[in-house]
Amino acid sequence: MATANVAAAILVTILVTYSVSAAASVADDAYPSPFIPTLTPCNLDEGISLSPVRKEVYDDGHIFDISHRYHTEMPSWGSDDGLGQFLGLPASMKNGSLANNSEMKMPTHTGIHVDAPVHVVLLKDPKNINKLFSLVKMLARKMNPQFIYLMPFLPSVIVSSQNSAYPPLYGDDKDSCGSIGSTLIPPRKEVYGNGRIYDITHRITSGTPSGISEDGIGDEYLKLHESMKNRSDYNFSVIKLPAHSGTHVDAPGHMFQNYYEAGFDIDSLDLEVLSGPALLVDVPRDKNITAEVMKSLHVPRGVRRVLFRTLNTDRRLMWKKQFDTSYVGFMKDGAQWLKDNTDIQIVGIDYLSVAAYDDLIPSHLVFLESREIILVEGLKLEDIEAGIYNVHCLPLRLLGAEGSPIRCILIK
Ligand SMILES: [Zn+2]
Ligand SMILES: [Zn+2]
Repeated sequence: MATANVAAAILVTILVTYSVSAAASVADDAYPSPFIPTLTPCNLDEGISLSPVRKEVYDDGHIFDISHRYHTEMPSWGSDDGLGQFLGLPASMKNGSLANNSEMKMPTHTGIHVDAPVHVVLLKDPKNINKLFSLVKMLARKMNPQFIYLMPFLPSVIVSSQNSAYPPLYGDDKDSCGSIGSTLIPPRKEVYGNGRIYDITHRITSGTPSGISEDGIGDEYLKLHESMKNRSDYNFSVIKLPAHSGTHVDAPGHMFQNYYEAGFDIDSLDLEVLSGPALLVDVPRDKNITAEVMKSLHVPRGVRRVLFRTLNTDRRLMWKKQFDTSYVGFMKDGAQWLKDNTDIQIVGIDYLSVAAYDDLIPSHLVFLESREIILVEGLKLEDIEAGIYNVHCLPLRLLGAEGSPIRCILIK
């Protein structure tokens, strides 16, 4: 009971800190200067130099990162000064919060990005339909597995219903598609390549749950900056998203301020760890993941990536916009057991936190302390058989961010 009260107090602190400072300027001094930490690493008491590794090539030359990292001076459409400040820090450990929680805001066509057909095709105009189909065909041709690996972030974005420039959900607006019947319906798949590729990422919608909101991420996450409906030549959105919403990854700086200031951000995570053989396991449905539960799973040594499917999947918690504190996750002793007795470096789970609510901070601290374990949260693990797959999880290269939306797929 006492633990539950502590956890509740922690969350309240996070929520209060978040809401109080949500309106703060983006030029928040809680942020370290992103490039400086690698040049002037700070020292822990033990005198160990703390400096993140930033790589372009992983796995002895087998994996090339061909994405640009997002930083304030990267080019941006229509701007003479580059992208500018794209991260805010509504909850900052420097200002007393128990965790760092960023929020990203940027044009959707920033850095390495992908264009969807609706970028330049107005569905309402029948003469544009051929143009649309050729674009769809071109995209379909490119969607082979190799191409998918390289996509850092391709959220299946469902649009805001409040912004009048947006079509309604699933294109079921009679006016926009009625004239051409049912042919213009975008494919939305969970499984690709004849059952070989599973998308285990939750689609981002206004109803995607968020740990800092009772109402999901809300309608404000996507806004049309330029709209064809309003006579622009193209559609051009701006995205604004808490870094820990939907399917996402945590970096060490999420709950260790010294790591945060030293630059252990999303860009410093090891892509080789985020890509490779993985075990999808079912855990007992009636309890949190304790040391006893971990022991009972008999995960062999040498297994480096494990996706834990829990009661959260059965309860479809990720499909409910209201944040639910009764989710299950790792208790501190479960986290410690995993760290001491396995070789697991990817801990994946099917709700917004790997840590059970009662051990929210302690379990995170156990996992993140070594900087060798990467936490992937909010996975979509419905309708997939337990077993061994290849996982590919690719976060955005957000310089300075302690969390990032991520696209994860499993390949048989
Ligand atoms: Zn997180
Ligand atoms: Zn987390």
